[in-house]
Amino acid sequence: MAATPIPLEVRHIKKRFGDTEVLKGLSLQAHKGDVITLIGASGSGKSTFLRCMNLLEQPDEGDLFVHGEEIRFKQTRHGREPADWKQVVQMRAKLSMVFQSFNLWAHMTLLENIIEAPIHVLGKPRKEAIEHAHALLDRVGLTARADAYPAQMSGGQQQRGAIARALAMDPEVMLFDEPTSALDPELVGDVLKVMHGLAEEGRTMVVVTHEMSFARDVSSQVIYLHEGMVEEAGPPEELIGNPQSPRLKQFLAPKY
Ligand code: ADP
Ligand code: MG
Repeated sequence: MAATPIPLEVRHIKKRFGDTEVLKGLSLQAHKGDVITLIGASGSGKSTFLRCMNLLEQPDEGDLFVHGEEIRFKQTRHGREPADWKQVVQMRAKLSMVFQSFNLWAHMTLLENIIEAPIHVLGKPRKEAIEHAHALLDRVGLTARADAYPAQMSGGQQQRGAIARALAMDPEVMLFDEPTSALDPELVGDVLKVMHGLAEEGRTMVVVTHEMSFARDVSSQVIYLHEGMVEEAGPPEELIGNPQSPRLKQFLAPKY
């Protein structure tokens, strides 16, 4: 039996901005059904690491494999860039990202937002895309908002809509960058509930989060970053339940 390819593997990613090296050789393997949470202080490199995974940022060094396929790079005068942008477009279709700020397109209804990429990137027939979108809207509890524009929706609704839009691509891996940090506290729970459901159905996810209860209850692995390096990593019961590094202990300590 052939081994199933690993949905996402990242090896020794390095990234600098000017003179500052913000990622100092980071690796990660997301196997099918893994939920990997990235935690760490502000500025530790979590977003940059996540953005390197789908090449919204170009890593200066390191290798990237999506579903077993290596992403090819070339050196140019401006540094390293992907050798084949078509390959990047294909890999991005397999890695859907949900951002902190709800990034639905403002000029489209929620339904139009959800069917856009399946039709234009995957070439799905419109009727099929609409049917799938309605099923996804039902999943995230937004059946009644299909024809609403983002500005007519709450932050929590927009974020659940963004998750539905990401799901519409049936991605191999979902990347989340602090999906609840910009929400009013009373709206956080509904978004986390949707994410819990995704984890339960075996979605592979990499999640940057400050929600320690989510990290504790849902992740298969937690990675604690400090200044662009992995300070500690492990299953949540060890990493959150019994942290070893003094820095991590302090990071996890109640603030008041
Ligand atoms: P986190 O998400 O953990 O808060 P980031 O990945 O956003 O951290 O940032 C890591 C470091 O890289 C920070 O010092 C930040 O200022 C810097 N940085 C991030 N993006 C850029 C950029 N586009 N240009 C220059 N510096 C950046
Ligand atoms: Mg960030």
